[in-house]
Amino acid sequence: MSDTVKDALLIGDDDAVGALCAMASIRGLHASRSEAEQTWRLVNGATFEAKFEAAWGWLFRGHRIERMPLSLLRSAQLPAWIVQGGAIGIIKSLTEDQKPAEVQWLSRAHDGSAPVEIWVPVSPGLITNESFVPEKKRGLATEAILSALRDHKSLFQRVGIASLLMNLLAIGTSLFTMQVYDRVIPNFAYATLWVLASGVVLAMLFELAFKVVRLKLLEASALRMDEALSLYFFERLLGLKLDRRPSRLGTLVAQVRDYESVKAFFTSSTLFVLADLPFVLLFIAVVAMIGGHVAWVLIIFIPLALLIGMSVYRPIAKLQKLQNDDLARRTGILFEAVAGAETIKAQGGEPRFSDVWLRSTRESGKVGHQLRNLTSYAQFAVAFTQQVSYILLLIVGVYVIAAGKLTMGGLIACTILGGRALGAIAQITQLLLNWHHARYALEVLDQLLDCPSDESTDRQANTHTAPLDLRLTDLSYAYEGAQTPQLRVPALSIKAGERVAILGRNGSGKSTLLKLMAGTATPSAGEVRIAELDMQRCRPSWLRDVIGYLPQDVRLFSGTLAENLTLGLPYPDEARIREAMEATGLLRTLGNHPMGLNLQIREGGAGLSGGQRQMVGLTRLVLQRPKIWLLDEPSASLDREAEERLIATLQKLPRDHTIVFTSHRQSWLGLADRVLLIEDGVVRADTPASKARAIQASTAAALEARDAAALKKMTAQS
Ligand code: ATP
Ligand code: MG
Repeated sequence: MSDTVKDALLIGDDDAVGALCAMASIRGLHASRSEAEQTWRLVNGATFEAKFEAAWGWLFRGHRIERMPLSLLRSAQLPAWIVQGGAIGIIKSLTEDQKPAEVQWLSRAHDGSAPVEIWVPVSPGLITNESFVPEKKRGLATEAILSALRDHKSLFQRVGIASLLMNLLAIGTSLFTMQVYDRVIPNFAYATLWVLASGVVLAMLFELAFKVVRLKLLEASALRMDEALSLYFFERLLGLKLDRRPSRLGTLVAQVRDYESVKAFFTSSTLFVLADLPFVLLFIAVVAMIGGHVAWVLIIFIPLALLIGMSVYRPIAKLQKLQNDDLARRTGILFEAVAGAETIKAQGGEPRFSDVWLRSTRESGKVGHQLRNLTSYAQFAVAFTQQVSYILLLIVGVYVIAAGKLTMGGLIACTILGGRALGAIAQITQLLLNWHHARYALEVLDQLLDCPSDESTDRQANTHTAPLDLRLTDLSYAYEGAQTPQLRVPALSIKAGERVAILGRNGSGKSTLLKLMAGTATPSAGEVRIAELDMQRCRPSWLRDVIGYLPQDVRLFSGTLAENLTLGLPYPDEARIREAMEATGLLRTLGNHPMGLNLQIREGGAGLSGGQRQMVGLTRLVLQRPKIWLLDEPSASLDREAEERLIATLQKLPRDHTIVFTSHRQSWLGLADRVLLIEDGVVRADTPASKARAIQASTAAALEARDAAALKKMTAQS
C-alpha cells in the first residue's frame, strides 16, 4: 500500500466532508454541509481516494478529480486538495519553486515529512492545462520525467539498500566456497560443512527476498509514475495548437508512443545494474585481498569490456535514429491506409499503398538488420572478453598459488567474484543501448511538446463586460509550409449581434477565416480580438463558452450519441437534449432509433450518415448556447427540410447573438444582414445583404472572364 493511501485512511469522515464543502465554496459551487454528509454516507469506494472522488462527482455532476504529484501542479489548477501524513487541506498558492505557499488545513495537524499528493478538482469539459510552468532549459518532456523520478527518490534509496545487501551476500557466498575447498575438503570436516552450508542457504534466501522486494518496489512506483506522466503527455498533446502541430497524424501518433520506450527504460529492471555498478569496485577489492595480483586481470579487463560497449554506442545511435524515423513513417502509412480504406478501395489505390509499404518495409528491414548485427557483435565481443579474462584469472591464479600467496579455495572465490563483476559490466553495455533508444525518444517528445501550445502563463480569464465584437487587424495567415499567406485581412470588424455570410468560391479562404475567428488557428501576423481582448490571451475555457464553432467536417468520437452531443458540456438533462435535437432535425432522423441517446458511435464517427453527423455537430452547438456562432457550411449535407428547420432555429436566436456562416446555398442569404465576399484569401466586397446578389453576379462574371483568359493562355502555351 502506498504511503499516501495509508495516510488517506487516517482522514476522518468529518474532515472529508469538510474538505468537500470548503472546496465547493471556494470554487463557487453550491452544496450544503448536510448534502455533503449525505453524499459521503451514500457513496462507496474501495479506497479513500475513490470514495472522495465519487462523492465529488456525485455532488457536482461531471466533475472529476485528478491526482498528481506536487511537482506537476500548476498555479492555474489551484485551489486543489493536498493530502499529507493523514491530513487533508486546500492548497491555495504555490511558491516559485513549487512549494505550497498558502495551505488551509482542514483536519488535525499533519506529519510534515510524509509524501504529498495533490488532488485537483476538474470541471467537466475543462482541459486543465490553461497555463504552464515557465520555460526551462531542458525540454518539457525531460523535465516532466525528471521531476517524476525526483518524486520517487525514496524508491531509489530503497533499491540502493537492497542492492547493497544483495551484493554483500554474494561476497559471502564466494567466501563460503573458499572455506569449503580450503578447510572442509582436506579434512572432510562435515560439521563445518553443514554449518557453513546452512549459513549460505540462509543468505541465498535473503538474496531472493531482496530481489523480489526490489522488483515490487520498482513496479509500484512505475505504475504511479506512469499514471501521472501519461496523463500529462496526453493533455499536453491535446493542448498543442491545432495548426502548428506536426501535420502527419500517423507520425504524431508514433511520436507520442515514444513515451512508452522512455517509460520502459526508466522503469525497467536493467536500471538495477546502475545500483550494482559501485559494487564492482568492491568485488575487485575483495579479489585483491584474497588473491593479490589476480586482481590485475579484472583491473585491465573491466575497462576493456566497458570500452567495447561504448565503442559501438555511436554507430548504434545513428542506426537507432534511422530506425525510429522509419517506424514513425510506417505508422503514418498504416494510419493513412486504415483511415482512408474506403477511398483507397473505391479508387483502386491498393497497389500504390502496397508499393509504398513494401518500399518502407525493405528500408526499415535493412536498418534493422544492421542494428541487430552491430548489437550482436558488441555482445559477442563483450562475452569473449569475459571468457578470456576468466582463463587469464586462472592462469595468473596458478602462479600466485605456486608462489604460496593463494589457496585453491581462494582462487575459486576470485573467479566467482570476477565473473560477477564482469557480468555487471556486460549488462552496462545493454543499458547503454537501451538508454540511447530512450534518449532519442525523449528528444522527439521534447520537440513535440515544444510546438506552440494553447497554454501559456499569461492567459487571462475574461472578466470584461464589453460587447462580444470580433475584430481582425493586419491579419495574415499561412498554413504550415505555405509560401504565401492563404488569407490577408487588413481590417474587419463584426459587431455583436451581426449576421454575416461569408461567400466565395472553393478554396477562397472562407473556412480559414472562420478557424481564425474561432481561435483554432493562430494568425501568422496581426491579431484577432474578441471583446477588445487579444484572443491569444484569453482563457480557452472562456472562449469555448462564448464561441460555438461548427467545422466543415464534423468529427465524432467513439462513445454514445449522448456523449458526443454533450462533449465538453456539463451534462444537460435529456429533455434539453431532445429539444436541441428537435431544433436541428436530428430527432427526426434518429428519434425513433431503438437505442435512443445510447446509440453507439464507433471510432471515427462511423455509424451515422454524413448529414446526421453534421446535425450532431449542430445539436452540440445548440446545447452549448454560445454567444457567437461560427458555422462552416452548416447545411452542406442537410436535406431541404432539415436546412429550413435549422435556418428557422437560427433566426429565433436572441438578437445579441452573432452568427457568421459560410454557405454555397442561396437559401441562407435570407439569414444574413451583411455579406463578405472572399476571393483568393482577400475580402473583395463587404456589403449589406440586400446588395449581395448584384455584387455576387458581377464578381462571378469577372472571375469567369479571368479564368477564361487564364485557360486561353495555358492552351496557347501548350
Ligand atoms: P471550400 O468552399 O471548398 O470549403 P474555403 O473557402 O473554405 O473552400 P479554405 O479551406 O479556407 O477554403 O482554404 C483556403 C486555402 O488554404 C486553399 O487554397 C487551400 O488550398 C489552403 N488550405 C486549406 N487547408 C489547408 C491546410 N490544412 N494546409 C495547407 N493549405 C490549406
Ligand atoms: Mg471551407
